[in-house]
Amino acid sequence: MDGRKHYGFILVSSLLPLFGVVAAMVLLWNSLAGPSDLVAFLVMFVIAGLGVSTGYHRLLAHRSFRTYRPIKIFFATAGAIAGQGPPLIWVAHHRRHHRVADKPGDPHSPYQEEQPGIRGALKGLWHSHLGWLFDPGLTSDPIRYCPDLARDRDLRVISRWFIPIVLAGIVLPGLIGFALTGTLFGFATGALWGGLVRFFVSNHITYAVNSIGHYFGRRRFDTPDESRNVAWLAIPSFGEAWHNNHHAFPRSASHGMRWWEVDVSALVISGLKSARLAWDVMEIDRERQERRADGLRKTGGGRQGRSAPPVPLAERKDAVVGVADVE
Ligand SMILES: [Zn+2]
Ligand SMILES: [Zn+2]
Repeated sequence: MDGRKHYGFILVSSLLPLFGVVAAMVLLWNSLAGPSDLVAFLVMFVIAGLGVSTGYHRLLAHRSFRTYRPIKIFFATAGAIAGQGPPLIWVAHHRRHHRVADKPGDPHSPYQEEQPGIRGALKGLWHSHLGWLFDPGLTSDPIRYCPDLARDRDLRVISRWFIPIVLAGIVLPGLIGFALTGTLFGFATGALWGGLVRFFVSNHITYAVNSIGHYFGRRRFDTPDESRNVAWLAIPSFGEAWHNNHHAFPRSASHGMRWWEVDVSALVISGLKSARLAWDVMEIDRERQERRADGLRKTGGGRQGRSAPPVPLAERKDAVVGVADVE
């Protein structure tokens, strides 16, 4: 998928689910949504959510754990179903985000607009939430940012079949609706709720981690960016919203670092580990965490803090960005 096609896809994929949500609201208003629609929505919400969080993000972008090939293919396909882009493009943008978070070159920082006041803040938040996807000039070269994944044949195939996989993610909940009701109407409303409405809801949750997760919330660790932990977003984002923890320790398989920081994706990974289906699971001990938390108390961190590197490395032409650089 080239840049132009990706841009077209983003345009369709952000407008169509919006129409779906309006249609679903009209049906809901007329009491035409039933339990089968809720089942279709929840099943697909979990598949897409884990696909993005456990698959695209922790397994592919950060190599937080290793697993068998069929499980990798399952998570990468589930991530594609979410419809946020093919794995190679998603991971390239994401690794670049970590390299220069909240500095020039970050694909989705809310601090690109240096306009003061509420207007600048809203423009920045919009850019980091969804606006950045509409910039046709924005590309992150997969060969530069994820050469390890570009070599993976399975991921290349999933990237090539991305649009049919997204469409399958709309047909599948339709089939769930049909199986539960035995009617074509059940198929249609299942596809609507589990396909388009789910698409809308789960993608805005991911985008909220990029926007809200760099703007509102609490910081525990000294990171050279504005990442924040957003407790209320933790459960629907499958743990992704412990975003300051994640920027402090990007390779950690668990983003929740206290017992009360619910992280569904981490639970899935530790379940896989117990079943001997995952290994080399990255864990950060409490002592390392404490040292980093101490740093926050001393420097304050942040994008303008003393810990920020003077020249973002990924912006240097000679810098090769591989998986080691996102540790
Ligand atoms: Zn971030
Ligand atoms: Zn990350």
